[in-house]
Amino acid sequence: MRVLVAEDDPKVRRHLVQALVAAGHAVDEACDGDEALWLLGEADYQAAVLDVGLPGRDGISVTRSMRAMGRSLPILLATARGDLRDKITGLDAGADDYLVKPFSTEELLARLRALQRRGRPDAEQILRVEDLEIDIRARTASRGGIEISLTNREFALLEVLAEASPRPVSKTTLVERVWDRHFDSGTNVLNVYVNYLRNKIDRPGSPPLLHTLRGIGFALRLERP
Ligand code: CA
Repeated sequence: MRVLVAEDDPKVRRHLVQALVAAGHAVDEACDGDEALWLLGEADYQAAVLDVGLPGRDGISVTRSMRAMGRSLPILLATARGDLRDKITGLDAGADDYLVKPFSTEELLARLRALQRRGRPDAEQILRVEDLEIDIRARTASRGGIEISLTNREFALLEVLAEASPRPVSKTTLVERVWDRHFDSGTNVLNVYVNYLRNKIDRPGSPPLLHTLRGIGFALRLERP
């Protein structure tokens, strides 16, 4: 998923971004609250990790603004203070969870997984499109019972396509969900990755599931004649 990290300490920020990228997420970073709010308004993030003690607009104020705009993405607040009042104010402002610094990146990733699950009923932890099965929690995929080995980026693409299936997904949405904001949309990278994914899931002998819809985007479904 696409995640925003807002943290003013460059060392902590780098550490968080690296852990999230290694876990397969597309990550953008902000150094202060105004930048965080601007980025959150620019793209469709699936989660935000906000430091409470940010310069200018703090993490709680960013949370409040997001909720006032009707944006429901999961928000995790992080604070060095561990102050009970901060925690209550943050949750009242609309944050979904709270981390007290110093926290381990394992804990951050576990909390994010829990927030993702909260937004998705248990039955939807496994997505199925015909004989293709995608296990969101285990981050594995198989077709006809045979496991498919996917890179983080390929898995992220497949997850977005499977969630929308049988509806198509536009190129813009795929790029927003799978790449960070430094992605150069003028390149052919998306098509290249879709082709990697297609070669892995649509093996010779099985009916193709990943289709290119000219001028629309891509769809994961069985095209019935
Ligand atoms: Ca701070």
